[in-house]
Amino acid sequence: MLTDSYGRTATDLRVSLTDRCNLRCAYCMPAEGLDWLPKPELLTDDELVRLIGLAVARLGITEVRFTGGEPLLRRGLPGIVERVAALEPRPEISLTTNGIGLDRLARQLHTAGLDRINVSLDTLSADVFVQLARRDRLADVLAGLAAAAQAGLAPVKVNAVLMRGVNGHEAPALLRFCLAQGYQLRFIEQMPLDAQHSWQRSEMVTADEVLAALSSEFCLTPTDPGERGSAPAETFLVDGGPQTVGIIGSVTRPFCGSCDRVRLTADGQLRNCLFAREESDLRGPLRGGASDDELAARWERCIAAKLPGHGINDSGFLQPARPMSAIGG
Ligand code: SAM
Repeated sequence: MLTDSYGRTATDLRVSLTDRCNLRCAYCMPAEGLDWLPKPELLTDDELVRLIGLAVARLGITEVRFTGGEPLLRRGLPGIVERVAALEPRPEISLTTNGIGLDRLARQLHTAGLDRINVSLDTLSADVFVQLARRDRLADVLAGLAAAAQAGLAPVKVNAVLMRGVNGHEAPALLRFCLAQGYQLRFIEQMPLDAQHSWQRSEMVTADEVLAALSSEFCLTPTDPGERGSAPAETFLVDGGPQTVGIIGSVTRPFCGSCDRVRLTADGQLRNCLFAREESDLRGPLRGGASDDELAARWERCIAAKLPGHGINDSGFLQPARPMSAIGG
């Protein structure tokens, strides 16, 4: 078991498959992109499956979420999913994606064993999409969403990040759209994880603001908080339900006390928190011939050192050196 010194147990493994992305979302990376990791530094498919297998068989990981960068850019993704689905005990397998290319891959991924999917959609306006993501790809994202639902990856979840002055006014429209399509929408507060370190608290659209904007059009009733468990989203029934909307107040309503996550970067570094300032290298020992026992011990030490909170609201907060795209969101 991966238990830390505050009694939390990590069961949810987020695996970044690549730091590359085909969008340049302003809250994540600069318009010119980033220096991508050289290929030899990325874990190979075999290395990934070995580490995930170890986590599942020996360390109590029950859920594996593939992310990035953009995980659909990882060649061989369906094969990786298939191999992870064959592990014993079989973990729940999910994917967070911007949806570009999902129209071609959704069915294959579902057949390979993908259980659930989150697609990021921050706006319904093609112009705002270009402004925010610096690429003209809204139609591809919408096609990806539709394909995911058709492939049986329901309920499709949608992640939205709002930026003041850009898409900050779109909360009600996004919810209307998701209700009509049968997608489950969750708003995520913008976190200080952008590569350009330009996050400003005053620019973040807060959970309170999202709730106020939605409440002007919808009747929101909190669902039973007892059901939330370690889920980051506070959920609300919309107009009496059954459909819901989620708000992830990572900054103003942190949920670190029930965090059950651990992250593996595309270059094989283990992180006990999105905001961790230290990583634990698994790739070096793995390539140096470490045994499963040695790797498991490294993994346990990393989790044992997890801090009680992400620290965003502390006066001395320092943004992690690695951006979200490299850590894996
Ligand atoms: N490329 C994929 C995608 O777009 O979903 C997966 C990686 S992305 C880093 C995962 C999630 O993190 C997305 O929903 C994205 O909106 C969110 N995200 C990225 N940067 C963020 C930030 N600074 N604050 C909050 N959420 C962020």
